[in-house]
Amino acid sequence: MKNLISLNMEQLEDYFLKLGEKKYKATQIFEWLYIHKEKDIDHFTNLKKDLRDTLKKDFNLDFIKIKRKEEGPLVKKYLFELKDGNYVEAVLMEHDYGKSVCVSSEVGCNMGCKFCESGRLKKVRGLEAYEMVEQILLIEEDIKDKINNVVVMGIGEPFDNYDNVINFIKIINHPKGLGIGSRHITVSTCGLVPKILEFSNLPLQVNLAISLHAPNDVIRSQIMPINKVYNISQLMGSLRKYILKTNRRVTIEYVMLKEVNDSLECAHELANLLKGMNVYVNLIPYNETNNLDFKKSERIKEFKEELSKQKINVTVRKEFGDSISAACGQLRSKEV
Ligand code: SAH
Repeated sequence: MKNLISLNMEQLEDYFLKLGEKKYKATQIFEWLYIHKEKDIDHFTNLKKDLRDTLKKDFNLDFIKIKRKEEGPLVKKYLFELKDGNYVEAVLMEHDYGKSVCVSSEVGCNMGCKFCESGRLKKVRGLEAYEMVEQILLIEEDIKDKINNVVVMGIGEPFDNYDNVINFIKIINHPKGLGIGSRHITVSTCGLVPKILEFSNLPLQVNLAISLHAPNDVIRSQIMPINKVYNISQLMGSLRKYILKTNRRVTIEYVMLKEVNDSLECAHELANLLKGMNVYVNLIPYNETNNLDFKKSERIKEFKEELSKQKINVTVRKEFGDSISAACGQLRSKEV
């Protein structure tokens, strides 16, 4: 049975219309769920009892659970237990511009990036929309405050769970849902080209980030198996189309791995690759993990300067959460 929270506004409206009800009932449901935070369908008092019973027959309203919480400076990591006993993590970050949550989109991940801890467990399944929405709802409840910014950069490849992720975005973006502005939502992908093209047709102004991590196919294929399916030229082609269509600036993520992709030649090559495109580069300091051999690069500053010299917009990602293994690439679908 589907969870009520997995439905976006349009889907709920369709549901009520099919029942022969007025579609504004959908708005009432959203208000119960996301304004009053009501967790029991029987308490939806402006719906008649019959209708509540029908709703209960068609949907459940189960919640995932916070199993553990760890705190570091300006960061909290939450381990969630899902209804089927699987686990995922999410991270809350306090920025000067507000509170941001990094949500997971899958249990495990099939992309197999060599430097990433989250991919050491193969994909078990994609998360349903409610399991992503509830990561945010439960964190808001825990901190008694609103989340202003969401990045789909936790465990999983969001475009490998495309429909559920889009549904999730529609729900949190809706003014009667969590009301998180589309410009405050970012989806990051390792480069599933057909989905990038599909995403460009979405009538939502959500940000797109691409995990590029290398300036050429030789290096990229060594560290990211997906590159053997969609190479850099195909990826760049899809980004050009995306930018043309949406007129939006794309974030290029580039994790700085010592002696793998951090030479000045790499910076040069990267600048050539991106020249003239509406993108900016976000350099990510590598977070080392016990299980993988990659090391953090010490050349971020020089790399950044080289890109700037070539007129490429570039920033360095602020480091968060390393002390509690809550940083990029450190999240796991495991209890311990
Ligand atoms: N699968 C999506 C979403 C994950 S986002 C994607 O690949 O974009 C997480 C980001 O952190 C990705 O850019 C990923 O490549 C990067 N990352 C993975 N392991 C990391 C690590 N140990 N240190 C820093 N960044 C890492």
